[in-house]
Amino acid sequence: MDRIILGRIGEIALKGLNRSTFEHRLATNMHKAISDLGEAQIHWSQSRYFVEPASDDFDFETAVERLSGVFGLVSISPAWVMDTEAELFFAKAVEAAKERAAKGAKTFKVETKRGLKSFPMNSPQISDEAGGRILEACPHLRVDVKHPDFTVYIEVRERSYVYTEIIDAPGGMPTGSNGKACLLLSGGIDSPVAGYMIGKRGVAICAAHFYSYPYTSERAKEKVIELARIVSRFTGPMKVMVVPFTDVQLAIMQNCREELSTILLRRSMMRISERIARRNNCSALITGESVGQVASQTVQAIYCTDNAVANMPVYRPLIGMDKMETVEIARRIGTFDTSILPYEDCCTVFTPKHPKTRPHLQEVLDEEARYEYEKLEEIALENIEVINV
Ligand code: ATP
Ligand code: MG
Repeated sequence: MDRIILGRIGEIALKGLNRSTFEHRLATNMHKAISDLGEAQIHWSQSRYFVEPASDDFDFETAVERLSGVFGLVSISPAWVMDTEAELFFAKAVEAAKERAAKGAKTFKVETKRGLKSFPMNSPQISDEAGGRILEACPHLRVDVKHPDFTVYIEVRERSYVYTEIIDAPGGMPTGSNGKACLLLSGGIDSPVAGYMIGKRGVAICAAHFYSYPYTSERAKEKVIELARIVSRFTGPMKVMVVPFTDVQLAIMQNCREELSTILLRRSMMRISERIARRNNCSALITGESVGQVASQTVQAIYCTDNAVANMPVYRPLIGMDKMETVEIARRIGTFDTSILPYEDCCTVFTPKHPKTRPHLQEVLDEEARYEYEKLEEIALENIEVINV
């Protein structure tokens, strides 16, 4: 009798002919996520993945935590696995219930799935018998089928499984099953969430960050690296391109109308990012923009920003979301606390007092002609620092 981690898939199960490509990709990603935790074998059948420790030193608890972040899995359960013999799984069901009762649970129910139709007891019979034994062993527990404190799940298949926990995993598609995109990653709340959302669709991610040393500090850069690291728990290792942006910003400040400086900045970021994206085999850019959130994200401002991207789609997964909805996701994925650390961002340092909220493209283009953006952007591209997280 031993420990095993069960994984469940969602959308992958709806795939047709290419389903097995997604299944293999998911298994590979699961392997990668736990490869440093000891040996384990991963196999799958129908909509179920099985992660079986294959060495004594396998770090089971950490594996559960890591797998609960793998895109493609909708939930996981740390379980006990045993031969399909009634006495074995009843004993384990009682033991699992005792454990939960010791931690303060008062009510329970038993749910049985019988995949092995030749097994002599049917599902209700198995549940009844297990429930009876649990009540005998734990006199303080009561059955509550509607709102139990915990459920003992018994699955009777070729082998049998007993567990009491179903832990949510993010769902989505396995990373790498759907091309690659470049995330414009700031130190704010929005862009890490935007990267997570597109990553969840199976898209591999690299990141571009613009920083303006010495106007923004080394700490601000470290914060962004930390955000990339948190997002990479879901998306897998990420290459972060740190772009020195000070000279572009100074040139805009010195040569262009202040009220348009943010739009000009953002156009420059987009152009540079598009080139970074191409160099890294990306087919899209990702930003954390949300329509109407700030002056640079009005409908007209986004029109002017988008116009700087020559030939690549820009994914803006937060475009219709309220800030509170984004914050909720940021908290759930663990980026929020880092995002709100009070380090300056390259945009805030140079924020104009009265940004124009309804810029006209032609006036923006006229203003842009006043500084040598092509040359400065070339230099910025040549001086990128690459950090792997
Ligand atoms: P965030 O919370 O993601 O910083 P925001 O609401 O502060 O977003 P802006 O500062 O206008 O909005 O930035 C809009 C988007 O532009 C960001 O979500 C991000 O994708 C990109 N961006 C902004 N600043 C930077 C930067 N310094 N480096 C890379 N991308 C940036
Ligand atoms: Mg920002």
